[in-house]
Amino acid sequence: MSVPLPTTPTDRADRLVELLDARELDALLVTHLVNVRYLTGYTGTNGVALLGLPNLRCFVTDFRYVTQAEQQVHGFERRIGEQDLLDEAVAALPVGDLRLGIEDQHMSVRMFDRLREALPASVELVPAGGGVEQLRSVKDTDEAARIRAAAELADAALLRTLEDGLAGRSERAVALALEQEMRRLGAERPSFDTIVAHAAHGALPHAVPRDVEIAADSLVTIDWGAQLDGYCSDCTRTYAVGEPGELAREVYELVLSAQLAGLDAVRSGVSGRDADAVARTVIEAGGHGDHFGHGLGHGVGLEIHEAPRLSKTSDVTLAAGHVVTVEPGVYLPGQLGVRIEDLALVTDDGCERFSTLPKDLTTI
Ligand code: ZN
Ligand code: ZN
Repeated sequence: MSVPLPTTPTDRADRLVELLDARELDALLVTHLVNVRYLTGYTGTNGVALLGLPNLRCFVTDFRYVTQAEQQVHGFERRIGEQDLLDEAVAALPVGDLRLGIEDQHMSVRMFDRLREALPASVELVPAGGGVEQLRSVKDTDEAARIRAAAELADAALLRTLEDGLAGRSERAVALALEQEMRRLGAERPSFDTIVAHAAHGALPHAVPRDVEIAADSLVTIDWGAQLDGYCSDCTRTYAVGEPGELAREVYELVLSAQLAGLDAVRSGVSGRDADAVARTVIEAGGHGDHFGHGLGHGVGLEIHEAPRLSKTSDVTLAAGHVVTVEPGVYLPGQLGVRIEDLALVTDDGCERFSTLPKDLTTI
């Protein structure tokens, strides 16, 4: 199977209803906004969708979004609700015995109680999250193009930011400049809080940039991404400032070998666990298995972390259209950290790398 051709919200809704049938659900109440967007095209901040049965396609929002919904949401009955929209969604359900799925991983206890109260006793609520996420994990060619464009924008923003050097600037100043550059080039926002971490601070995989000047003779890890047209990018590069030393160079080369091996393993038909193992074996052989404590990668799309995962416990089989990161790292507490991350589209015979910046250790 190749990367799927572009799908419309109508195609997506039809595919979701097939999944619901397989799980013996009459309908699904979609409350997670990203999932609502994927299924209906709606980009506002308050909306729910109800899909199921042969012909139940209902979208509910509040009065602030009436015009926007008219422009964006087609093929759905549009309703205007009050407050949390639940009463209006319940009113759209047919009368009688029903099994109604909810996105349990996204629904608060309060919302669950409100929904139960609003529903007649003939409706059974069934935890049924994950279906939309499963559909979202396989990108069509149009979605892949958007992610590719976000990655290109992010790469360009980093190159502009590096023109001003790294040494002597604070981690925070570099992160801020990079985020501004992404917005200047057209990004809606950074796809997550930018990480800029040097020397021992780089040993924290999720380091928060500090008001601390980047010192000479160290490594600097930068993890950043842009959100464009709703779709995220994600990339990490580790750079040298001055002469970082023998240990830093050794660790860098090891992580790079693992990253290249991991990328090489990513293709349709390989399990997330096996792809992770290929990169992990390289790092273990280099004596740093204990210093690579996270999974090899994750899916990226409308959300920065989504299915599928590449990790020791992942039972997903990669398929054409998955967009995943390959990001091994070695973190030596109190000393240094190295992570190298590329974003790639899984294809039948390998993967297409969206990150284009060079990976040989570069001195800035
Ligand atoms: Zn990242
Ligand atoms: Zn990542």
